[in-house]
Amino acid sequence: MGCLAGRAARFAWLLLAAAVLSGCATSTLTGRSQFMLVSEDHAISGSARAYSSMIGGLSKKGKVETGTARAERVKEITDKLIAQAVRFRPDSATWDWRVEVINDPKVINAFCMAGGKMAIYTGFWEKLNITDDEVAAIMGHEIGHALASHTREHMSVAYTAQVGALVLSALLASRNDPNSFGRNADALSSAAALAITLPNSREGEEEADQIGIELAARAGFDPRAAVSLWEKMQKEKKFSTPQFLSTHPSNETRIQNLSALVPKVDHLYQLAKAGKPTEGVPSFLGGGDAAARQAYADKAAGEADTMTFLGPQFEKFKKGEVVFECRFACFFAYTNRKGDWKAMHDKKAWRDLAVSVMNVGYLNDLSYFLLGEAAKGLGLGEVAGVYYRRAGDAQKAGHDCGGSCEEFELRKLAETAPK
Ligand SMILES: [Zn+2]
Repeated sequence: MGCLAGRAARFAWLLLAAAVLSGCATSTLTGRSQFMLVSEDHAISGSARAYSSMIGGLSKKGKVETGTARAERVKEITDKLIAQAVRFRPDSATWDWRVEVINDPKVINAFCMAGGKMAIYTGFWEKLNITDDEVAAIMGHEIGHALASHTREHMSVAYTAQVGALVLSALLASRNDPNSFGRNADALSSAAALAITLPNSREGEEEADQIGIELAARAGFDPRAAVSLWEKMQKEKKFSTPQFLSTHPSNETRIQNLSALVPKVDHLYQLAKAGKPTEGVPSFLGGGDAAARQAYADKAAGEADTMTFLGPQFEKFKKGEVVFECRFACFFAYTNRKGDWKAMHDKKAWRDLAVSVMNVGYLNDLSYFLLGEAAKGLGLGEVAGVYYRRAGDAQKAGHDCGGSCEEFELRKLAETAPK
């Protein structure tokens, strides 16, 4: 929260400048460009505040279900999904993941805020009589929204509406107003609360469906439950409009699309069912062993396994077939992302590094060099050589990173690259 501690006015103007200069970011997971005014850290801290005030309020009214078999089962199911989520977004290992069952039999709703704060309402059982596999489908989908940073995207939208008011109040406030920090935090927190009531885009829904069904399958839950869940939802719609549908706009093709995803992830489900997918996997829900979680995430970051919908691109990478051509349209994305690449390289997050570099697609020596490093890190020595050579070729063609190579010594590349 360090950067929030400055004066509110300066902060607000910086935010506006940031909106113009770098409001767009590319998701590591999906490659889609998103409007991101609120930083990841602020989205997480704002969501944590909103969540604890919401759950605190509901708890006082006796509406948070604790100690029941159902609440325990939801925790168990969600924990298995998180273990899979962390494999594909290793940074989420440090999130303070939580899930609560909210006892409101009339409400059919569920959400996952930025940073992994989740809830599911009992209306799902009372009205739709959901199975455990369907719980996994629901929570997998919600976790999908959080992993793909949709919740943060929504917070950015909600926050923008409040920034105008914030600028005004900051300008009116005295320069050393001790409350200015509190107001910023409040604005973030209410943006987080608002974010989970905003409808998702069709694109966002499709992403969350893809991620969710795969997390569930990998965690050992039947992916067909995503289909049966939406069939139940369609039937229920004839009697009332579930709240879930107002934030999850659906169309006729959704059930069809989900049915088409089933055969793509079914082998993962069969594998998980046959083996013991959770053996030796740390718990990510509340408390637990932080070192074990980090070790699990670090190991996952170096795995050559990606989510199925990223598969084709990653397969191309593993075969050494990735060729870059873009020099102008992706230059801005390149300058924005290359600092992150250095951090991914330091963390040995080879898979994320390769995916991110490919998503940007900028032609220069640094891009190819980093693909080479990622391939080497993943144990693909020959392929690494291919990318190192392409880096050298790019350098010779004048496409070099010059003086801003993120501390990588690319000048020596021509001599050191394996032939
Ligand atoms: Zn959704």
